[in-house]
Amino acid sequence: MQNNYSLPPFKMKVIEPIHLISKEDRIKKLKEAGYNPFQLRSDDVFIDLLTDSGTGAMSHFQWGALMIGDESYAGSSSFFRLEKVVKEITGYRYIIPAHQGRGAEQVVIPLLVKHPGMVFISNIHFDTTRAHVEMAGARAIDSVCKECFDIHQYYPFKGNFDLELLEKIIQKYHKENVAGIIMTITNNSAGGQPVSLENMKAVAKIAKNNNIPLLIDGARYAENSYFIKLREEAYKNKSVREIALETFDLADIFLMSSKKDGLVNIGGLIAIKNDVAFFQQCQTRIVPMEGFPTYGGLAGRDMDALAVGLNEALEEEYLQYRLDEVRFLGDLLRDAGVPIQYPAGGHAIFVDCKEMCPNIPYDQFPAQAVCNELYLEGGIRAVEIGSLLLGRDPDTMENIKADAEFMRLTIPRRTYTQEHLRYVAMCVIKVFERRSAIKGVKFVYESPILRHFTAKFEPVE
Ligand SMILES: *Cc1c(COP(=O)(O)O)cnc(C)c1O
Repeated sequence: MQNNYSLPPFKMKVIEPIHLISKEDRIKKLKEAGYNPFQLRSDDVFIDLLTDSGTGAMSHFQWGALMIGDESYAGSSSFFRLEKVVKEITGYRYIIPAHQGRGAEQVVIPLLVKHPGMVFISNIHFDTTRAHVEMAGARAIDSVCKECFDIHQYYPFKGNFDLELLEKIIQKYHKENVAGIIMTITNNSAGGQPVSLENMKAVAKIAKNNNIPLLIDGARYAENSYFIKLREEAYKNKSVREIALETFDLADIFLMSSKKDGLVNIGGLIAIKNDVAFFQQCQTRIVPMEGFPTYGGLAGRDMDALAVGLNEALEEEYLQYRLDEVRFLGDLLRDAGVPIQYPAGGHAIFVDCKEMCPNIPYDQFPAQAVCNELYLEGGIRAVEIGSLLLGRDPDTMENIKADAEFMRLTIPRRTYTQEHLRYVAMCVIKVFERRSAIKGVKFVYESPILRHFTAKFEPVE
C-alpha cells in the first residue's frame, strides 16, 4: 500500500464494549440463526458491518443538542432549528421531517403517480424506493452507466446515469408517463459509487426538456459532494457546501434517509425547492402517515441531533477521513487479490463472490455462503447483496439471477478504527484463501416477501 490515509479528526470520549465469542460458540450461534446473519443477535457479533444506516457514532455536540430538544406536539423549536439548517444546505424553501427515508418516500412518491402505467427512472433505485414506486402502481426502471458493472476497471463516477438509455426510456414510455427521475447519490446499490455534477446537469436538462419532476435520493449527498471535489476537475477548488448547493439547485425535490449523512440513529427528510402546492399536498399526507408536519415521526431531540449532524457531515476533514477509511479497507483487500468493486465507494466495500467462488451456483447464494464463513472466521457480520436479495420471479417462481453476487462490508460512520478494519481485512483474506472449500446454502425456510431477512438455510453437502 503506497497511499496515505487521513487520521480520524476526533478522539474517543464514550466507549461501547464489544466481545469476540469463541469459535465453538460462533459455530453454534450461526447454526441457530439458520445460516442467516440477519438472524444473529448483535451480542454474538464482534464487528458489525451489516449496514451504515443509523449505526454511526454521534459527537458530543449532538449528545448536548439532545438536551435542548423541544417535545411540543406543534411548532417545536427543534423543528425550526432543523429547518434553518436544511434550508441553508439545500437552498430549498419547504422542509418536512420524516421518521426515515422510507417515510419520506411513502409521502412523496404516490403524489407523483398521476395515472396508471407510469414509470420512475433512477440510476439505480434503492430497494425501499423501488418498493414505494411499485406500491404506488408505477414501474421502477434503472439507467446506470455500463462502467458500473466492470468491477476491476477504474472509473471515477460509476454511479452515473446512462444518458442515452435515459432518453430512450423516456421515448419508449412517453414523457407524460414518466412520474419522476430520481438521482440516487451516492448510488448505493452500485457500491456507494458517486455521480458527477456533469452527469447530474445533463440529467437535469433532460428532465427539464421533457417536463419531468427531478428528485434527489440523497442519503449520502455529502459523501457524493466530496467525491466530486476529489475527482471532477472543474470543482476541485469549490467547497463541499458549494458543490452540495449546486447539486440541489438542479432538482425539485430532495428525499433523505438521515441515518446516513445526517449522522443520527433515526430520521428522514423531505425538502421541496419552491412548489408550494406540492408542499401542501405533502403536509396533508404526512399527518396520518408520519405525524404532524413539524415533527414527522421524530422526537424533538432527534431533530436537534440531526440539525447538528447535517453540518458535521459536511466538514471536509471528516469527509476526507470517511472516504479514506473505506478506501483503506478496499486497498488491503485488493492488494491480497480479493475481487472488489473498484475504486472503493463512499460507505462500503463490495466483494465479488461470483468471481471468488465460481463453483457455487447462483441459487445456492455464493455471497451468503461467504458472509457465513466470515462470521465463523472472525465474528464479523456482513450482508449479501445478490440473488438472495432479489427474490423470485412472481410469474415463474424461479430464483432471479443477479448481475453480481456481492458481499457488502458496510462501514458505520465514526465507529471503528483502522485496527478494526485491518482485522476485518485479515479475516476476509483468510476466507478468500480457503474459497475453493466454501459450500453454498439451501433453504430450510423461505418467506414469500423480503425473504433475506427471515430465511433459514443449511449448508449444501
Ligand atoms: C437507506 C436508504 C433509503 C431508505 O432510508 P431508510 O432511512 O432506511 O428508510 C433510501 N434511499 C437510499 C439511497 C438509502 O441508502
